[in-house]
Formats: sequence, structure tokens, C-alpha cells
Amino acid sequence: MKIIIIGAGPGGYETAIEAAKRGMEVILIEKGNVGGTCLNEGCIPTKVFCRSAEILEEARSAGEFGVCFRSDGMAGADIRADIGKIRQRKSEVVEQLRSGVHTLLDNRLITLVHGRAVIKDAHTVTVDCPESRDYTADCIVVASGSAAAALHVPGGDLPGLATSRELLDIDHVPESLCVIGAGVIGLEFASVFNSFGSRVTVIEYCGQILPRFDSDLAKRLKQSLSKRGIEIITSAAVRSVSPLPADGSVYGADDGDAGPSAYRIVYDCKGKVAQTVAGKVLVAVGRRPATDGLGLENAGVEYGPKGIVVDENMRTSCPSVYAIGDVTGKMMLAHVAVYQGLRALNHICGRKDNINLSVVPSAVFTMPEAAAVGLTEDECKEKGIACRTMKSFFRSNGKAVALGQTDGFVKTVVAEDGHILGCHIFGPHAADLIAEMAAFIGMGATVEDLRSTIHAHPTLSEVFRI
Ligand code: FAD
Repeated sequence: MKIIIIGAGPGGYETAIEAAKRGMEVILIEKGNVGGTCLNEGCIPTKVFCRSAEILEEARSAGEFGVCFRSDGMAGADIRADIGKIRQRKSEVVEQLRSGVHTLLDNRLITLVHGRAVIKDAHTVTVDCPESRDYTADCIVVASGSAAAALHVPGGDLPGLATSRELLDIDHVPESLCVIGAGVIGLEFASVFNSFGSRVTVIEYCGQILPRFDSDLAKRLKQSLSKRGIEIITSAAVRSVSPLPADGSVYGADDGDAGPSAYRIVYDCKGKVAQTVAGKVLVAVGRRPATDGLGLENAGVEYGPKGIVVDENMRTSCPSVYAIGDVTGKMMLAHVAVYQGLRALNHICGRKDNINLSVVPSAVFTMPEAAAVGLTEDECKEKGIACRTMKSFFRSNGKAVALGQTDGFVKTVVAEDGHILGCHIFGPHAADLIAEMAAFIGMGATVEDLRSTIHAHPTLSEVFRI
């Protein structure tokens, strides 16, 4: 069996490795760097920034923990982000992991082809580089990922506006940052740059930040970010972005940008027109599936603005073509891409699996973190599912108190018969803690099962003793 995979992001490269383990011959085609968005400009580099932000915050509050700096005797004196060093560390981390992926792909059954892939027909893909060449296989898996969505307002395409990619490469900490969009990516950058010292404003179209998350969790996260000095404006539609002259009279005059010194962002909020000015603007209004120029029509693959249409086995309308990851427009998360790839592979091999693609943990790496899995209370109401919720708080958790990180809670959504339907965590290490609840929900556990599970003491996981 021979398989062509387009895109070496987490969906594509993990599927390639697994396919080779199963004895399949794999052609993996990548136009950029292996690791895709996740490794090169997404999950990993942002977490490097998050870690520096976390260390900064801890250093600033070190005095409260009885930790003093020898130079001045007091913690918190003049601690600032050295963006050059942070970027350097980011490059080293990405390089290290990328080389790890290359090692894993170094398999006689995997051929890594560099170039842009275009589907020619149901079994053939043309690669343009260095010269045009056709590859044929029994199956094609499209794992081409996604790209940052554009801001469709006047000035929304100004060259100085940043997407997450450009902000990860910024060479200075802007005095002020306006983040358009309070989804996961927008909030992570807002939290990080607030710690780095920028004055941050977040403008969100919907009535709540993290629109798909539990409303209690979103409310608490908003309060917490606001307390840190981040201005968050919800129910606000950005109308235009315009550059301000570099006369040194506005915020960001010291930004060092070649472009304008600042931007004016005009928005409608609750029937009124308002504006804010910022030295840097991050457009984080979502991501769109990368379907352009793939030649999907040549194989009769159905797709639209929301991505490639797939069935529960990730098979497209063309029986020999599968699609996985962000390009399907489902949950745009690295681990979703990986497990969709496994599902596609299992279907290609005629294997049944019990991967539950509807139980997907997701995390927001703000400070504190937020994480969720399963249904929210609101979703249960919409679906007519009778449920109750149970809450526990980090302030009563011994480890959280010792850490000095007591802000937050766990909200568990439980069906009438006791089955756990969802869990929503706001608090320290939420992104790691959610794994336990993902396992419980995936295995169809009840609150009784959770209660009779012994958790080590003192750990944050005791917060699940509800
Ligand atoms: P991608 O990783 O996008 O990879 C697709 C690959 O296909 C790319 O390398 C691209 O060059 C290649 N390609 C595209 N077209 C062609 C072609 N025609 N020919 C050849 N190659 C092609 N997710 C998480 O789970 N956790 C996080 O913390 C997280 N943080 C994120 C932070 C940011 C700033 C961003 C932008 C994303 C983040 N994500 C996170 C989302 C995550 O990066 C994506 O969900 C994940 O990368 C999707 O994997 P994929 O394999 O579908 O596509």
C-alpha cells in the first residue's frame, strides 16, 4: 500500500510515521518546514513566550515568597523581557524539536519531498520543486493546515498589522498592543505581552471572550486578565484601522517600526463609535482552512470556505482522498489533527478503532490557564440534556495555596444519571489537569468513579475531589 500525504504539520508527519510503522510506503510532501504551524509558528513558539512571561511574573513576585535578589536585596526591582533572547530561545526550541521530527521521519519507507503539492487526479499529486514531478499512490491524505483569517475592514490589510506569525518574530516589546479577537490565540498573546510590559487592549466581537468556552470560565478569565491591567472590550465590532503619522506624539513612537508609529482602531460598541490607539496591532480573528491551490477539484473533492468536507473516517467525497487537521475546519488543534490522521489511517487499513473524536480537551495558556473538555452547561441546555454542575475551588486546595496560585475553579457538568459530560477548569496548570477529565469522560465515567479515584496529596489534582 502506498500513500501520499500533503503537509508535514502534526497531522501529516504523525500519520506518515504511523503509516510507515504499519509497513506502508509514504510520500510526505511539504512546502515549508516540517512541523507545520504547530511547531514553527504556533503551539511551540507561543509556549516559549508563555514560559518567559511566567518566569517574569514569578520573578516580580519573588519577594512575597521570601526570595531576594542579591543586587538590591529586594525582588521585583527592574525585571524586564529581553525579547532578543526570548526569540533566540524560541528558535533553539523549535530547531531542537524540528530535528527530532526529522529523526522520526528518517525511515526507509518515508520519502520526504520538498515542494508545493497539487492534486492532479484521485491518485496523482504533482510537486513543483525543483522541477515538476508526478507521484502516484493508492490514497492521498490532505493535511495542508490553515492560515490566519484576514480582517475585512478598511485598513485591515495594512502591511504593519501583525498576525501571530509576525508577533512571534517581533524585535521589540511594543509600548501598546491592540489585539483584535479574544479567542485562544488573541488571549495568549494578550497575556504574554502584558507580562512583557505592553499596555494591552483586546477587542472582541462577541459578548464574551473565548466564545466557545463555558461562560463562567470566560467571565472569570476576563476578570483575572482585567485585574492584571489588560483592557478587554467585548460586543465590539472593529470598523477600521488607520496608521498615525510618525511625529512622536502618539503611543509607540519608540517602537522602532519602519512603518507608522501607531494605529488608530475604530470600533462600534453597544451602539456607540469608539477608538483606541496602539503601537502594534495583532489580528487574531480566527484561521481559515488552507485549500487554495491544492487542485481539490481535479479529484472531485468537495470543499468550501469552512474546509474540506469529510465523513467520520476523514474520507472526502473522492474515495481515495482523505483530509485531516485544520484543513477540515473542525477543531483547529494539533492533537485533533493527529488523531484524525490515525482515524484516516485505520480506515485505509480496514481497522476499527475506538478513538472518540468528540471528546477533545482544549487549553488556553494564559496566566492562570484555562482548559475544557466535553459539554458546557449552555450546550446541555441547547441540546435539552438535563444536567447539574458541581464546582470546586483552588483556594481550598493545599498545593494551590502553597504555590500562591489560588485563583480559579473546576466546574464539572454531570448528567442526571451521574455520567460526567464536561469539565471546565480555570486555574493553575489547567492545561495539564484537564487530561484526567478527558480520560474519565472518554471512558464514560460517573461522578462516583471520580470520587473513588485516589489522588496524591498534596497535588492540584485533588481539586477534582468534588
Ligand atoms: P499545519 O500544522 O498547519 O501543517 C500544514 C502543513 O502543510 C504546513 O507545514 C504547510 O506548509 C503544508 N502545506 C500546505 N499546503 C501545502 C501544499 N500545497 N504542498 C505542500 N505542503 C503544504 N494547537 C494546539 O493544539 N495547542 C496550542 O497551544 C496551539 N497554539 C497555537 C498557537 C498559534 C499562534 C497558532 C497559529 C496555532 C496554534 N494551535 C495550537 C493550532 C495548531 O497549530 C494547529 O491546529 C495544527 O498545527 C494543525 O495541524 P495540521 O497538521 O492540520 O496543519
